[in-house]
This record gives sequence, structure tokens and C-alpha cells, in this order.
Amino acid sequence: MRKETAKYSKLLSDLLDKSNNMVLVCHHNPDGDAIGSMLGLNRYLQLRGKSPVMVSPNRIQEFLMWMKNVDSIIVSEKNPGRAVKNIKEAELIIMLDFNHIDRSGKLKNHIQSSGAKKILVDHHPDPEINVDLLISEPEFSSTAELIFSLVKDIEGEYCIDHDFMEAIYVGMMTDTGNFSFGTFDGNTLRGVAMMLDNGLDKDSIVSSVYDNFSINRLRLKGFATYERLVYLEDYNTAYIYLSRADLDRFKHKVGDTEGFVNAPLSVEGIILSALFIEKENHIKVSLRSKGNFNVNALAAQYFNGGGHMNAAGGRFNGTMKECLEYFEGLLDNLDNLQA
Ligand code: 5GP
Ligand code: MN
Repeated sequence: MRKETAKYSKLLSDLLDKSNNMVLVCHHNPDGDAIGSMLGLNRYLQLRGKSPVMVSPNRIQEFLMWMKNVDSIIVSEKNPGRAVKNIKEAELIIMLDFNHIDRSGKLKNHIQSSGAKKILVDHHPDPEINVDLLISEPEFSSTAELIFSLVKDIEGEYCIDHDFMEAIYVGMMTDTGNFSFGTFDGNTLRGVAMMLDNGLDKDSIVSSVYDNFSINRLRLKGFATYERLVYLEDYNTAYIYLSRADLDRFKHKVGDTEGFVNAPLSVEGIILSALFIEKENHIKVSLRSKGNFNVNALAAQYFNGGGHMNAAGGRFNGTMKECLEYFEGLLDNLDNLQA
């Protein structure tokens, strides 16, 4: 299917022209695409003479902290007063990389009660959110690629500003696992080609994102796959679980477990992979799958979450032991798992 964003240009451009106080908001536990699309859009708006404010509901993962301008993002958890004030005074709120208002965490009520015009720019399927302009395109690899395409349509040419390209590339690259999975296609790669032709330093970005972890994180990954991986061969499934004590032992920093859930998929035959991480009062659930096995539906039905067909997440309220029993108990009911 052809990906088409020109239909949004006029409405989007008009809303941007009319608004001065703009707030960009990404989802809770922002990943590379949430931050990349927010920084990219922010840069484009700056070039357009605007001064948007960027807000993240909570902390940004360590592996993204090198990005240009990341320091100017208001982290609501740390600075709720500033975040809420900006949302209250906003004329336009642009939400990025999520399809349900619950994903904005504690900002939810403030966004909902704000009189601002609202736009959603997202690539998750089946959005359920009340906005004035809904830009929902699940065919796109990433929200960052969607921003890239929207800007191209509005401007009639690609934006080749250095900071813009860096942010967009981080979003595209992280949501596709460095262009190995997800919904990237010829259009995505033509965009990448254009950026490379215009000086995008992909090696430095790859290295900043993937080669900048602590030795503790590497050891935690080894521990997770060796000591905390359960392989359920009959179900073509494997999962990893990590307790607070495990994380503390390896001096865990936010973002250290990013990507761990993909590791089991490298084993022949595995269709479903899960990662369970103990949080203060719940278990964070990450799900990944191969082929037609729909983890978006699994997350929505059983873990209060959602995401994409092959990558989704949610939560379990209870102990780790209960969570693992619950998960294993589900497997018999799921079609397409047994070989
Ligand atoms: P991750 O497993 O990396 O946290 O998330 C994978 C995908 O699932 C991402 O697209 C993310 O937006 C989505 N996701 C993660 N956690 C949740 C959640 O609690 N609710 C919903 N609706 N989506 C989630
Ligand atoms: Mn995304």
C-alpha cells in the first residue's frame, strides 16, 4: 500500500500557523521513536519560527541522553509544575507516538481538560483518542518517518537540517531495530538515502545509541539470558524475567533493559518472546513476536496494554510469581503457538 501524507498538509500547516503556544507530548517511558519524533518536530517548528515546548511524562532513557536538545525536554515527573503550566497555556498540543490517552501517564487529565487544539501523530493501529486532527498511519515504520514525510509534504522538499535528520534517524532506526524488523519499506529507505546524501552521520548515531552502555548493562544482559530465561519449546515461546534485586545487582539505569526482549527471537522456532520487569507496584510486560502472531491483541486482552502486531507492551498487577504463572497459563489458549 502506498503511504500518503499529503492529505494532512493543509490542515496541519494551518494549525501550526495559527498557534503560538505549542506543546509537544510523547508517551510514558519514551523510546527512541518517541524522543526522535518529538525532537525532530521541535526542530522543524523552530525552523518555521515557532518555539514549542517539549514534555515527556517521565524520565528519558540514558541511551538517548546524547541527543541534541534532549536537555530542553521538560520531564513532568521531575517538574510537574512547569509541564502542567505549559499544557494549561497551550493553544496547540501535538501528541506523538501513542494511540491512547492513557499512554500520556499523569498528564492525561491535564491534556483532556485543556482547551487547546489537539493533534495526534502516530503509527500504532486503532487509535482511540479525541483530537482535532488525527494523523494515524500504521504503515509507517515510526512516528519519526511520519514527521519526515509530513514536513516534506508541507515544504515541498525534504528538510535537511542536521539536527532534524539526526532526530528522525534515531526514531526510524530504533523502531526498526536498526532496519531489521517492523514496517519499513522502500519509502523509508529512500528517506534514509536522501539523508545520507545530505551528510547524515549514521555511524556516529548507531554508535551513540547501541555502543554506549555500561559494562554492568552487558553483564545484566548475559545474566538475563543465562539465569532468567525460560524456554518453553512446546509453545515456541521464551521469556525473561528480572526482579528489582536482579536490576540492583547490576546497578541498573533507565533504558538498560531496552531490547532484551528481542534476544529470544534469535532462537530457531521462537514465535513469541516476553520480558517481565518488576516495578514498584506492578510488572512491566514487553512482548515481541514473529509473523502473524499478534502481540498487540495479546497485550490488549491480557495485560492492559497494546502496541503493534509484532511489538507490544502492558502491565500486570501482582507479584512476579503470579505474573509468570498467569502468562504460562495463557499459552494453551493462544492459537498459532504450538508447532
Ligand atoms: P516496549 O515493549 O518496548 O515497552 O513497547 C513496545 C510497543 O508497545 C511500543 O510500540 C509501545 O508503544 C507499546 N507499549 C508498551 N507498553 C504499552 C502499554 O502499557 N500500553 C500500550 N497501549 N502500549 C504499550
Ligand atoms: Mn514508534
